[in-house]
Amino acid sequence: MERVNPATEAVLDPIDEHTDTAIEAAIDRSVDTYETWRDRSLSQRRRLLAAAGDELRENTMEYAEIATREMGKPITEAIAEIEKCAWVCDHYAEQADSYLADEVIRSEPHAKTFVSHEPIGPVLAVMPWNYPFWQVFRFAAPALTAGNTGLLKHASNVPGCAKAIERVFERAGYPRGVFQSLIVGSDAIEGIIEDDRIRGVTLTGSERAGRAVGGAAGRELLPSVLELGGSDPFIVLDDADVETAARVGTRARTLNSGQSCIAAKRFIVHEAVYDAFVDAFITEIESLSIGDPTDESTDIGPQARKDLMDDVHEQIQQTLRAGGTLETGGEPLDREGYFYPPTVVTDVPHDSPMGREEVFGPAAAVFSVPDEDTAVEVANDSTYGLGGSIWTEDLDRGEQLARRIESGCVFVNELTKSDPRLPFGGVKQSGYGRELSEHGIKSFVNEKTVWVQ
Ligand code: NDP
Repeated sequence: MERVNPATEAVLDPIDEHTDTAIEAAIDRSVDTYETWRDRSLSQRRRLLAAAGDELRENTMEYAEIATREMGKPITEAIAEIEKCAWVCDHYAEQADSYLADEVIRSEPHAKTFVSHEPIGPVLAVMPWNYPFWQVFRFAAPALTAGNTGLLKHASNVPGCAKAIERVFERAGYPRGVFQSLIVGSDAIEGIIEDDRIRGVTLTGSERAGRAVGGAAGRELLPSVLELGGSDPFIVLDDADVETAARVGTRARTLNSGQSCIAAKRFIVHEAVYDAFVDAFITEIESLSIGDPTDESTDIGPQARKDLMDDVHEQIQQTLRAGGTLETGGEPLDREGYFYPPTVVTDVPHDSPMGREEVFGPAAAVFSVPDEDTAVEVANDSTYGLGGSIWTEDLDRGEQLARRIESGCVFVNELTKSDPRLPFGGVKQSGYGRELSEHGIKSFVNEKTVWVQ
């Protein structure tokens, strides 16, 4: 598989794709290992997961540098990502006992009914490049600890990360077949899903990939989780702390160089604070440093691939042609690498690409609304429903409004984020199913009813 460093356009050493025979051997190993892995005690599996967390903490820099080299993430964010992976390992190592405990429904001297949580077998994970470690660990930490085995098909531009994740589990002492990376293109996926030894599928990525993988899983009657795109609203009400909203909003839009499913993408601002917010937002956006992702002072690195940068640029250009006003940014930087500056567009027509589509780069669409009801209407006028953020000094008002947003999560006076303790996932075309927390570990278990009398 060819890999390109998106900051320098240097071609990295290719990594060999797996042949059909190697894929077959990996599935065999996954099935064989499952037979013994599922019978290990939960405390043994929890101990191994804690060791994986330690491995990530001990060699944070080694792993972070691979992500930065392959997909261009600023190194400080890559380090934070590896630390967050260690956190999700710690979380499930500590909580799996209570999350997977039997749920007792009836307990009498000679009769008992309960629900036990049992593994289902090998689970295929199709994962994206944007958080190349985190997206995988948030699947693997709970799914493996529940007693399943995992097969990873990572995005084609991050095979080095795929191999590094396999290494984390090996170094932590996991049996070899518990977690394996398949170095394959997306054309191999349907065949793997059709293999009746695969018992579940999860995908994080685009709506297009979600339809392909979810469709194949449906045909095979496999449980699946789909975490797809988003076009999250960031609502600033008339009583918001505008300066803080502008500062946090900048971060919410530009984290990971703008390539995040839960990035704030549509800024919906009450007209009473619109001018103040837009001024503060542009000042914050223009203060960000863009450049070498290996430099610790860099805020924005390159876009992960040239085609993705070109797509973002085209969406912005079409929005401007449809009547949007460019406030800052809007042209790729004239230098080596795939650098796109943080961009702000106001007067965004609702049916333009920045109004309707997911923009997977550092470009913010700003809308002015006359009142709270219109803010909700604009927020919900999207085919997506992943996250959302509301800014108001009145917490009751924020809570009431949060209930009206059609999404998998809403944060009041905070940016949308994933957290091992909280369920994560979307509604509408942002997908279905939940990851993380107790909900996530139950995505790939057999919730078995047992009646004894
Ligand atoms: P994709 O959705 O194409 O890639 C995500 C994963 O799905 C990769 O492993 C990819 O493999 C695989 N994949 C793609 N198509 C199929 C298919 N038909 N069958 C099986 N597997 C498939 O994302 P892109 O990298 O192309 O990014 C395009 C857009 O996707 C972004 O602009 C953004 O809108 C969205 N996206 C959303 C993410 C999120 O976190 N929700 C993350 C990444 C992207 P391969 O790399 O081999 O094609």
